[in-house]
Parts: sequence; structure tokens; C-alpha cells
Amino acid sequence: MKGCAIWLGLVASLVLGKANAKDYWQQRVEYTLDVKLDDVHHVLHATEHLAYFNNSPDTLRFIYFHLWPNAYKNNHTPFAKQRLLEGKEDFQNAKKNERGWLDSIDFIASGKGKLTIEYMDKSHEIAKVMLDKPLLPGQQADFDINFRVQIPKIFSRMGHEGQSYQISQWYPKPAVYDAAGWHTFPYLDQGEFYGEFGRYDVTITLPENYVVAATGRLLTAKEDTFLDSMARLTRKKIMDNTIKRKVVEIASSSKTKTIHYIQDNVHDFAWFADKRFYVMKGGVTLPRSGRQVASYTMFQPNLVDDWLRSTDYVDSTILFYSKYVGEYPYTSATAVSGALLPSAGGMEYPMVTVIGKVPAKQLERVIVHEVGHNWFYGMLGSNERQYPWMDEGINSFYEQLYFDKKEDNAEGKKTTLKEAFRGNMDRYLLSDQPLDLIHVYEARMRIDQPCNLPAADYTAMNYGTCVYGKTSWNLKYLYYYLGEYAFSKAMQSYFDKWHFKHPQPNDFKEVVQQESNQRMDWFFNDLMQTTKQMDYAIKKVRKDGGHDVLTIENKGQITAPVFIGGGHTVGNDIFQDATALPTQSRAPVKDKDTVSLAKVVYDTSKVFNVSFPTGDYDFYFINPYPLTPDLYGKNNKYYINPPKGRGKALQFKLALRPESFNHYTIHYMPVIGLNSQDGFMLGISVYSGLLPMRKLEYNFTPMFGFKSGGLDGFAMMGYNVYPYSASFTHHIAVRVSARQFTYNYAAKLAYRRIVPTLEYELNKSRKTNPMLHKIQLSSNLINHFSSGKTTGLSEMHLQERKALIGQYYVNQLRYSFVKEDVVHLCKGSFTVQQSDKFNRAMAELNFKNPSLLPRQLVWLRLFAGSYFGKLPTENRFMMPLGGNTGKLDPTYEHLYTDRQGNDQIALDGGGLKFGSDTFLSRRWMASVNVAASIVRLKSIPISLYFDLGAYMGDANKITTGYAGGIMIGEPQGIFALFIPVLYSSNISQWQKDTKQPYHLTFVLNLDKLSPYAVKREILKHLN
Ligand SMILES: [Zn+2]
Repeated sequence: MKGCAIWLGLVASLVLGKANAKDYWQQRVEYTLDVKLDDVHHVLHATEHLAYFNNSPDTLRFIYFHLWPNAYKNNHTPFAKQRLLEGKEDFQNAKKNERGWLDSIDFIASGKGKLTIEYMDKSHEIAKVMLDKPLLPGQQADFDINFRVQIPKIFSRMGHEGQSYQISQWYPKPAVYDAAGWHTFPYLDQGEFYGEFGRYDVTITLPENYVVAATGRLLTAKEDTFLDSMARLTRKKIMDNTIKRKVVEIASSSKTKTIHYIQDNVHDFAWFADKRFYVMKGGVTLPRSGRQVASYTMFQPNLVDDWLRSTDYVDSTILFYSKYVGEYPYTSATAVSGALLPSAGGMEYPMVTVIGKVPAKQLERVIVHEVGHNWFYGMLGSNERQYPWMDEGINSFYEQLYFDKKEDNAEGKKTTLKEAFRGNMDRYLLSDQPLDLIHVYEARMRIDQPCNLPAADYTAMNYGTCVYGKTSWNLKYLYYYLGEYAFSKAMQSYFDKWHFKHPQPNDFKEVVQQESNQRMDWFFNDLMQTTKQMDYAIKKVRKDGGHDVLTIENKGQITAPVFIGGGHTVGNDIFQDATALPTQSRAPVKDKDTVSLAKVVYDTSKVFNVSFPTGDYDFYFINPYPLTPDLYGKNNKYYINPPKGRGKALQFKLALRPESFNHYTIHYMPVIGLNSQDGFMLGISVYSGLLPMRKLEYNFTPMFGFKSGGLDGFAMMGYNVYPYSASFTHHIAVRVSARQFTYNYAAKLAYRRIVPTLEYELNKSRKTNPMLHKIQLSSNLINHFSSGKTTGLSEMHLQERKALIGQYYVNQLRYSFVKEDVVHLCKGSFTVQQSDKFNRAMAELNFKNPSLLPRQLVWLRLFAGSYFGKLPTENRFMMPLGGNTGKLDPTYEHLYTDRQGNDQIALDGGGLKFGSDTFLSRRWMASVNVAASIVRLKSIPISLYFDLGAYMGDANKITTGYAGGIMIGEPQGIFALFIPVLYSSNISQWQKDTKQPYHLTFVLNLDKLSPYAVKREILKHLN
């Protein structure tokens, strides 16, 4: 599927490089669709007559058809597989009667016989229909198609929730044939469509009391009257305050109705039916042509308060896009509320859009976006699967412009991060304010992707941040660079030239270059097609005969126009240098300073000078507001009046703040801790910011233990490199971390662990590849020391002190890999340790795979380890058959609530669920740990586990043991509890002999909760 998309893209770019606008052609389709809804069995019975017009210069012997309902057939379709990568397991667990498909299909050449169908894929989503005679250029082929669709439950776009229907991507539809050839692809959740323009003549038959929204002009007068009366009734009930907000299921009437729609110049047809819909009707008169456009919104009763102004949103979107892009050509526009999953927001179809369960505050934004797709998708019919930026990216830019222009609207106002923390997170995330932060975050860690990739090549996160976010932000840059007038003129020319057609990226570029009369490679090549980094800096400012001369340095890989702002510090009036502004537009003022755009400079030199008359400004600022994707903001601001130089003042901030361009920020936060040896701990954490990534990271967390009376805590300092041009290396980190806690309070013993680490992470071949490889070289320097007076200590404790006090080292080389999605995990490591106390090598493999047992979780762990050269003499350096306890953790890798206890275990030895310092080996050990879930409480699995292990004991005797019981939680997660049920006789005997109470054990991976680990975890899941 992906290979195919890449191949087509390559062909497209080769062919289109040579293509000439004069040679442009596109196929035409004319559909007559007749569909009946069976709302008892959720089935569509349909017939389709298709007239296919070959306008290409080629003779066609077959036509590819998309049968997309088959995407919902089983767990092996490309949709089902992608959904897992997106982190969603709902479809995997779907029952047969919740799935969907298209069957009983026949293609009949008009008046002749059945045509041969060859399926191109396992899921039968792509059918190659062999023509009975060659279709010559300029000729027409006619097909009669019978088909039946089993409508799935809502998992993606098409489906039903009870008797509420969303019917889209539902009929056999020819793949687009254009200058690059055939564009066949399977249905995907992340990745949209490409359709031939033409005429749809559709009749829908269904029980009379359904309210229907659809693409097309409604021809059935009775239905038109019905909708008008529904709209009047809804309005009256709202005015009278008699409207019911409760959703009541309504039985389908036994009588049916048939509704007829017709529409030309569209490339798809979707419809929505629900018996509970309220209807609102609005409309606008288009200012240029004076044409009327009716607007409808339809929604379930519980949404009435949220949707009160919904037709206003549809109307203002039509007016806005008609003004800035091109006039709306159709007679109506409809928005309906549907059961799309919340993550989807909304989905666009020609003239009709479905809005998911979005919070009321986001409704206007989602409606603007989806109705806006009538332009970028509907009329400008680009290939969304191949170039999603052309619809999603450009449309997101206009969505944001709509809100920027509508300053008085609360929804459109930008939310600061501070407000976001006060609870307006949704607004914050939807505004373009954090785009710079997200971009900087991604680009510094090199997890961003170019804007122009095919949809399926993006990670789930980057499909949002790059296709929607970065593209619209880049367009805003272009908009400010060209100015509103020139930008809008270019966009209108693009619309005039390409509406109702299939524009390619180069067609858009050509229009923008023509209209602006300049080459735009910096934009279309560098910003849109690469992840090259942009970083301009003000190196210095000197005075030269009445001028301030700024020396600007390009420290990045992108050469592009630079916005230079000038401003005054707090207290002065806003200074507007209107003559030099690229547009009349006023960008929002940031910080307490006032900034105005002073100059736009496009100089391709590495270092260049820009001068301003002295006295105009107190400081200069590159990329104010911010308008460009400049990655390092700290070198962007320069003061000439005091404080002189770059804004570098140190500031201390509580908790977490985004990086400041004006200050070096040191964060701090009070912290508390608790463990049995130190008791309650209180301290302070001082750290560098977490987001976006800094090259230099540090964290100092000293704590005072109230029981131990000692100094405890953590410290870490590291330096990160994400080399831009390296092909094999993703990340190199050099780090020193330290930890100090009480080891044994009763014996007055503490430990200190200092670990210098060199970490190397391999680059992924593809960003969507879930496999991560890492190599770590570290040295564990462990020191045990006295933490108090020895008076009154028992003989046992004195012995222990004698044995422990001192230091040792463990050098470690570890290779690890992890491949994970929401239900599967495959992870492994190979570790070699060299120490002054022992040498050993260990290998471990972990699997989590529910497909072995449907609907159950299964964990499998395989472990093997062996000592070599130097055998350990002390127990704590030996491998345990059970879990590692706090006393058997030679590198102090784990954090324990009680270092002296036997209850908390770490599963990195034999992994049998008991904690003991017996059953140890100084030779070799191998074990198998399995667990399978029997039931899930909420999301917590309850499982049966069984462990089996063997080791070479002293005197060359092989000992085996097993343990089984009940597990609550996940062994690889943060917490799991083990309830033992059976042990092998030797373990039972040991328990009797040592009078071990019957006890539970648990895993607590506290290190998974550290902010750095959480950040790494997020990173892992995003990519
Ligand atoms: Zn969209």
C-alpha cells in the first residue's frame, strides 16, 4: 500500500514535471444511484448506473474501482492495521455483527453480460474490472452495478450508531485516472481520497420519518417542504422554550419515502439519516453574484444549546471563503452532527459535512474547517492521499485566518499558555499559538517530517502537527511575506484556474510564483519539502553615524526572508512603522514590550547587515510574534538601550514554562518522597525546562529524609545531540546521573550511585517504523558509606557494614530494541557487565501479543544469563531465580519503596514471583515467564501467571523451580501485583524452613514516572 503510494508519487512528479497546462485533461463520471436503507439489518441495497467518459489520450482496457466498505471486513485490512498504529484497539475487538463490507456485486456492461473482476488486494477494496471492448479516447463506457453494503458500527467515517446513519465511501467508485496513471488505494483512517468530478443523480428510499442530509440539490418538493417545516418547528420550540433536549429513540414508520438529489461538479456523494434530528435553516446572499445559498444544520436534541448558532457558523464560513478564495458555486451547505469518534472532529463531503462529538467551544472552529473543505478538497480536488497538505494544510490556514479576522469573537481569541493551565486547554490546543512550540519541540528532536509527504507516511502525531499545523504556519509566513493583497490574489487565481479540477503541488507553486512575480523555492522546496532547520540570529548591533547596524547571521540550513521587528520597552507608546509593514495586518503584541514589524529582508548571504536610524527602537527582534519557524529564539532579540545585548537575564520559575526568548529560565518545584529507610522526604527540584528539548539538560533534587536524618536525592546533567545530517544516528546523549539514599537505616548504611552514560539511538528508516534501537555504554560507580553512628548496632548490622562499606564498579554495555503499538509489544535487550566483583552477560526477550488468544492479553518473557571469567563471591552479585529485590540489585538500577524488603521485586533475573536471597546462581540461569489475562476490570487486566526457571547451583547441580498465581496489572507497566497460588516443592520447603509468611509481591516501576522518562515515553509513542 505504502510502496504503491510512493511509486505513484514518483511517477506523478516525473510526468507532471513535463506536463503543460494546455495538455491538461480529466475523466468525467455520471452516476445514477438508487439506494434503499434497511434499518433493521443496517444494510444498503443499491443499484448504480455509471457512465464513464474517457477524456484521456489513452485507450483503456480496464477500470479500477474502489470498494471501500470492505475496509471494515476483518482485522487484516490496511485500515485495521493502521488503526492499531494509531493506538486504537476498538476495531481489533469488534464483533462480526459490528463490522461491514460490500458484497453481492456485479458489473454489467450496459445491455451485455457480466464483466470479469480481478481483485488487486486481499481485502477486496480495489477491483480491476475488465472491459468487454477497449475504451478509446473520447469514448464513453456504461456500467450497471448491483451491490449490497453491510453498514459497520462507527469506527471511522462510514457507519451507524443505532439507527443514526453516516453513509460515506459507500458505492463502487472508479479510481482517478490522470496524467500520472491510476490512483488506487485502500481505505484508511489517516489518509483521505481522490475522486473524479462529475454528475450524481441519487434516489434514497428509507422510512418516512428519517431526516436526511446529503450532497446535492434536493429535487423532491415534498421533502423540501418537510425540511422547512422541521426548521420552523425547531425555531418555534426554541423561541417558546418548549424544546426537548432528551434524546428519545423513535420507531421507524412503516411507510417509506424516496428522496431525489442531483448535483454536477462534485467528486463524491455522502448522506446522513437520523430520525431524531432537529433542523435549522439559514442562508446567505453572495456579495459578488447576488446568488442565494441555503444553509442547514441538523443535530440530535441533546446538542440544541451547543448548536443554537450553528447556521451562523456555516453562513459566515461561506462568506469568508467566497471572499478570500472564490465564490461558493452550489445552492446549499449542510452541517450535521454525527457519531464520528471524538478524535476525528469532523469529516467533509461536497456540500455536506459531519461534525463529531466536539465540545461546544470548538463547534465554530470545526464547522469552519469542515465547510471550508468545500474549497480545499471539494472544488480544488487535489489528491488528498498523496498530498494531504493541499487540502488539510491550506484549509487549516484559512480556518485560522477566519478567527484572526474575527477578533471580537471569544472563540477566535488566542489563549495564552497561562490561560491554558487554568483550564482552557482545548482552546489553546486549537489556536495556532502553540504551533511554534510544537514545531520547535519536534524539530529540535528531529521527529518532525516534511509537509509534502503522502498521508500514510506520517506518524499519527505528525499527520496533525506537520500536515495541518506546520503547513498552515508556513502559509502564514508566506502571507506575511507577500502581504494580504498579493497572497489573496494568488489564491484567487489558483481557484479560478483549478476549481473542479485536480491541481498538483506544482500547479499551486506556479500560480503563486506567477502572481508574486518571484521564485519561491525557499518556500516550496525548503520549507515545504524538507525538515531543514531555520535559525537566524542577531549577532551584534553597532552604531554607525546615526544608524544602528544589525549584523544578522543565518545559523540554519534554510535561506529565507527574515522579519525584523523593532520595539520599545514597557511604558512607551506602541510604535507602528506602517510604511515598512508588508501588510496592514497587525500581529498580536507579545510580552510586555511593544513590537512592530520594521523590515522584511531576504538576503542569501550567511552574514549580512541591516540598518535602522538610531533612536527608532530600544530593541530589535527577529521573527516577532512569531511568524517563521525559527528554532532557537534566544538569539533573536537584542537590546540597544539598557539592558544592553541579548535578553539574557536569569529568571526562576515555579513548575514548567515553555522556553522564554528573553531569559534563561531555571525551573524549581518542591518535592516530597517516601521510602521505608529514609522515611518522609522533603526537598526541592531545580531543573532545566523539559519542553522543548534543550541541548543541555539538568536536574538537581536534594531531599532531606526525616527518618534517616540524611541528605538524599537525585542529580542529572546531560547533553543531547540530534545531528541534522547524520543518516544512521538519531540521538546521542552524554549524561551523568547520581542518586543517594539510605540503604539500611538499622545498620546506618547509605548508598551513592554515580553513572556516566553514553547513549546512542539509531535513526529509523521510516518515521512510521515503530522499532527503536539503542546502545548504551555506562559505568555504575557504587559507594556504600556510613550514614550515622555505630553505637548500639547489633552484631549482624556491624557485620553487614563491614562487608558493604567501600566501593565497586560495574561497566555495562547494553543493546536494546523495542517495537510497540497499543496491543503488541516486542522488546529485547542484551547486556554485558564487567565489574571488579563479577562478569556476566544476560539476554531478555519480552512479548505481549493478544493475537495468540483473541481478546486476551498474553505476556511471554524469556531470560538467559551467564557469568564468565570472574564469578561473584557475594550473594547480591548473583542472579536470583525470583525477582530482584532491593538487596539483589547490584547496579542500583531500580527504585525500591523498601531496599531491605522482599515484597517489591524487579523482573530482570529469573523473574519467578517471589523475593528471596536464596535460589541464587553464580554460573548460569534460564527462565520462562508467561501470563494470560482472564478478565479485565475497567482497563486493568487480571491474569494467571506461570514461571519456570533452571540454574546451575554451586557443586554443578542444576536446580529447577516454578511459581504460579494471579497477576493484577501489567508486568511491563508501572504497577503489577502478584498473588501466589503454587510453588515448586523446593520453594515451598524454603518458605517453611525460613518461616516465610505467605506473601504478595509487586512490581513498581517508579523510574517510569520521572518526568524525563515520561517525556521519553511520549516520544516513543509519538513515533
Ligand atoms: Zn480537514
